[in-house]
Amino acid sequence: MVVDTKSIYTPTPPTDQHTGFESGRSDLTSGPEVRLDVRGDFPILAREFDGKALAYLDSGATSQKPVAVIEAMDRYYREHNANVHRGVYALAQEADAAYDGARTRVASFVGGEPKTTIFTKNVTEAINLVAYAWGRTNVGPGEAVLTTQMEHHANIVPWQQLCKERGAKLRYLEVDERGELSLEQLDRELERGDVKLVAFTHVSNVLGTIVPVAEMTARIRAAGATSLVDGAQAVPHMPVDAQAIGADFYAWTGHKALGPTGIGVLHGRAEILEQMEPFLTGGDMIASVSFESATWNELPYKFEAGTPPIAEAVGLGAAVNYLSALGMERVRAHEQELTGYMLRRLAEVPGLRVVGPPEPENRGGLASFTIEGMHAHDIAELAGRGGVCIRAGHHCAQPLMRCLGVSATARASVGVYNEPRDIDALVEALLEGRRVFGL
Ligand code: PLP
Repeated sequence: MVVDTKSIYTPTPPTDQHTGFESGRSDLTSGPEVRLDVRGDFPILAREFDGKALAYLDSGATSQKPVAVIEAMDRYYREHNANVHRGVYALAQEADAAYDGARTRVASFVGGEPKTTIFTKNVTEAINLVAYAWGRTNVGPGEAVLTTQMEHHANIVPWQQLCKERGAKLRYLEVDERGELSLEQLDRELERGDVKLVAFTHVSNVLGTIVPVAEMTARIRAAGATSLVDGAQAVPHMPVDAQAIGADFYAWTGHKALGPTGIGVLHGRAEILEQMEPFLTGGDMIASVSFESATWNELPYKFEAGTPPIAEAVGLGAAVNYLSALGMERVRAHEQELTGYMLRRLAEVPGLRVVGPPEPENRGGLASFTIEGMHAHDIAELAGRGGVCIRAGHHCAQPLMRCLGVSATARASVGVYNEPRDIDALVEALLEGRRVFGL
């Protein structure tokens, strides 16, 4: 039977007027020269709060969703819903085609293979999968896991638990005053000969630092250790080729990449995944089961126990199609321009200090900052009154906050739909906030 899978998960591409760069608006002389114009593809951005347009600057926490994603999931439930990998009827085959087709799209979006692209609940679960299914058999007493001071808790706590359980040591690469890691320190750590795994982020969710991941994985491989890269803040914002990066494991999360919540992705090296025991066990991940024992399904299904997030996979497939239609080089250029503009404008706010690398080309599309005399939560609350959504807190990176000598920062982060006016609204709200505080 031929299933028209295209109709299942091919999103409406961005409209002509929403695909290109546009020259800077004449009313914004200091704004970026070029940018994407796709705000109209995101229905939620039409909302107003107290008569003020929504300036959504919290894409680092989660992204907004384009119509293409919302409609793909709606269409899946209206027309194609059935459980996957078990039905022989036509509707079930459509669901299979939708789910497996989404996997193919998601894999190729980051240069991966469907067989080694595993769907999880989020990036946190993807990292836990490696910590349990690989870590419990490959890390032992006296050995070490190396991570960095700039990690999200999702890339710290699973290694703390693993090391505690296996009698291994957990060590951290330091973050310097520019918010960067040292390759020399990585080399020194690897020379100690006890490092089994190095787990590190591609882009810091607090500092914005873009980490030289390919250089790091090459050194780690040469030392005979295994690498895991947390790509949660990279995949949605820049071209990523997981093969070229050369990590043994590369993980990311769908909801930050214009996709739905409830789906994450783990790309693994085939020979390592083949050798690993499963993480979760039960239905769908088995080849056969007797009363005494079971054998495992082939990749990637060995790591997908139970009914998977089918509609979410369809939604993520639509999201990566949407991003591909925009072009990830253009997405990165747009967000880099906006980040440069944001850094320039934030410098106008007295007492404001941005953490992380100062150059927009060395950072992802976010800026974490403090303002002298104001707590981060007050900054975010006052920004919210101006319709500006920014984050405040430790950003699930409490150890890094200690290194920075602060308990919290405010964080503004951009996505494809942001425009200079969102940054202008932020700066206006921050200046007003200072006035409210009598600063
Ligand atoms: N890693 C990084 C760098 C993040 O920014 C985040 C989310 O903020 C995560 C991991 C966790 O993502 P999720 O909650 O989708 O698992």
